[in-house]
Amino acid sequence: MGQIYEEFIKRAGELADIGHAQALLGWDQETYMPSRGAARRASSMGTLAGLYHQKLTDPNLVRLVEELQGRDLQGDQAVNVREFVRGLDRALKIPEDLVVEMSKTEALAHEAWVEARQKADFAVFQPWLEKLLAQKKEVADRVGYQGSIYNALLDEYEPYARAEEIAPVFADLRARLVPLVEAIQATGKMPAKGVLDQEFPVAAQEAFGRQVMADLGFDLEAGRLDISVHPFCSGLSRDDVRLTTRYAPGQMTDSLFGVIHETGHGLYEQGLPEDAVGTPAGASVSLGIHESQSRLWENMVGRSRPFWSHYLDTLKNCFPAQLQGVGLDAFYAAVNQVEPSLIRVEADEVTYNLHILLRFELEMDMVEGRVEVADLPALWNERMEQYLGVRPEDDAEGVLQDIHWSMGGIGYFPTYSLGNLYGAQFFRQAQLDMPDLMGQIGQGDFSPLKKWLNDKVHARGSRLSAGELVQEVTGEPLQARYFVDYLEEKFGALYELG
Ligand code: ZN
Repeated sequence: MGQIYEEFIKRAGELADIGHAQALLGWDQETYMPSRGAARRASSMGTLAGLYHQKLTDPNLVRLVEELQGRDLQGDQAVNVREFVRGLDRALKIPEDLVVEMSKTEALAHEAWVEARQKADFAVFQPWLEKLLAQKKEVADRVGYQGSIYNALLDEYEPYARAEEIAPVFADLRARLVPLVEAIQATGKMPAKGVLDQEFPVAAQEAFGRQVMADLGFDLEAGRLDISVHPFCSGLSRDDVRLTTRYAPGQMTDSLFGVIHETGHGLYEQGLPEDAVGTPAGASVSLGIHESQSRLWENMVGRSRPFWSHYLDTLKNCFPAQLQGVGLDAFYAAVNQVEPSLIRVEADEVTYNLHILLRFELEMDMVEGRVEVADLPALWNERMEQYLGVRPEDDAEGVLQDIHWSMGGIGYFPTYSLGNLYGAQFFRQAQLDMPDLMGQIGQGDFSPLKKWLNDKVHARGSRLSAGELVQEVTGEPLQARYFVDYLEEKFGALYELG
């Protein structure tokens, strides 16, 4: 028994090593690789992906795992086998020719999407999305599912989540968000005007962002910050976490809150259990839990009044000309401006989830066969008007704006909203456990919150599923109300709603 398990862990570790190399190559591709390096890099990554698949589905390993599945395992041994089987199962059930076919389709669909977006013409992308959708349904049928077929796709990003459980939570969320957005809109207030729409020198932006990142507790001996077109966090291991951001003089807060967001992801990666490095138990739980950490730090901490009562003077020292005479109230209001807009990635904290709910609903309808791909643009525009009161002029600022579907990422979007809801529920619990939490943030002392998250969330690795983790940490299943309560309180005061 011991020997079989040891052999299994050794092989799982080798797969993790290949994954580590793949992640590093991927990070380099987005940050430092010169453009002419792309072709050779694609070949190298293709070979590694093949090697990974070969080693994962090696009949000897499959036999080992089957043997272990028949045993009564406890603790991390049980977690490691359970989580490994999840990945193995998918790999065994999806035939190689389908994998190859999908990766070809995704590459071509992505090209078509770029062209469609440039021409603002959904018809260019439509046949490709239809093809991708058919392939995804085939994948779902092969891997199997209970309840909605959507569950098989969701499971890739948010393991163990079920559409039947999240749909009612999202419906609650929508029912309370729409009137909140309307009430804020009716005030006509635009507090960011004259405060944030200025040029902020990039060097000072970088210096300030790096200071905040270090203050929040990101360990720069176990990670770094670089520049990429699309910001991301890549956890090569808990001791090597790569964050990226981007800078533009006219968008100081985009970069700053981007850095805080990625730092939230980075703290999670650095806090993963030390005693489970390189094993499935030592990995993060899901994209939703990952996003809960980034959004918690970005919004509930970084856009809070106490945070800026601590940092505003430092920021003003970085930008004396731009922020002269801007008081705490004005700055706090400015970084929390709510404005319904067409583009998801530019959306504020209040309207953001309505963008996601729309996508989730359309995905469900599409996958379950209630809606034809051809009807997506019209439905998109209709619902944007219904939920946010704005209507896209063309498909580029409507149904074509996101990259996800063009890369086969159907079932990914809900993890963003799940992250916001998990984050709010965790943060409420942190405030109950540490009544002076906001006071500590006002003093620039982030270590109690970081330690709380380390203990309650990060150090558990993937021993619990996302749903179990929320239940364990907060004593309740996931709910929409903690997030909306938080929004109503914060923005009710900011916008003086009755
Ligand atoms: Zn994120």
